[in-house]
Amino acid sequence: MSETRKIALVTGAGVGMGEAISRRLAEDGMAVGVLDINAEPVASVAQAINSAGGRALPVVADVSDRDQVEKAVQTIRESLGPITVLVNNAGVENFTAFAEIDDVNWDRILAVNLKGAYLVTQTVLPDMLELAWGRIINISSFGAQIGAPNMVHYSASKGGLISMTRSLAQELGSRGITVNSIAPGFIDTPMARRAIAGNKLPPVDELVRAYPIPRMGRPEEVAAACAYFASEEAGYVTAQLLGVNGGTAV
Ligand code: NAP
Repeated sequence: MSETRKIALVTGAGVGMGEAISRRLAEDGMAVGVLDINAEPVASVAQAINSAGGRALPVVADVSDRDQVEKAVQTIRESLGPITVLVNNAGVENFTAFAEIDDVNWDRILAVNLKGAYLVTQTVLPDMLELAWGRIINISSFGAQIGAPNMVHYSASKGGLISMTRSLAQELGSRGITVNSIAPGFIDTPMARRAIAGNKLPPVDELVRAYPIPRMGRPEEVAAACAYFASEEAGYVTAQLLGVNGGTAV
């Protein structure tokens, strides 16, 4: 399928990696449904893409809510067409010692990071099955690979995404649909900046000094990996986990 025929949906697209992924897929010629829980940032991302000559539609939804997801996906289908590239990027985190994680906190992290990917994927999948072509990319985290103190709920949700990727890839491989995940390392986004500002992490210089590539990653570097998984050329690549992490995890 040519890039210009692809319709992509990127979740958590208002800022950070989701914004960079949306811009990159649009630059590659795809029409992009940019979905976020916050209206203002997603409107400005869509406007920037459209002003640059691309095609984007802003939609507002909470990925953990089936009704909102179904309405958002339907809006994109009606406006742009059937969705063939899905990037499950929306995520939330907080830093809480395991003993202090309560059920509300645990459930919200799992609801957005893991159930959200299940809901959006299940809602979009009929389009890909119909066309016998699709690309699903799940944004996990290096925290799922190497562990992350005070983020047991978060790393469990991101580990779930890796397992979901592998199992779904096996179900869908014969139907022309690939499913892969990306595990970003420490990437310079509002999420990471919030953690630094809240003193939840050591100072950046100290943190990145131990990395083989001693700096934070850029959202565009994650977007480039996404663009590869979304491409026609990656048609024989499925069930994979690609770290974009400066060498911090295998
Ligand atoms: P970010 O800066 O917080 O951006 C994520 C966007 O998703 C925000 O606009 C956020 O809104 C939105 N969102 C949150 N909950 C949502 C929901 N229920 N439905 C729809 N949208 C929702 O995050 P990021 O750093 O770009 O991270 C993108 C993904 O990579 C996340 O899954 C994250 O867990 C993962 N990741 C990040 C890093 C890192 O170092 N930055 C490392 C590894 C993995 P709010 O701002 O209102 O929450």
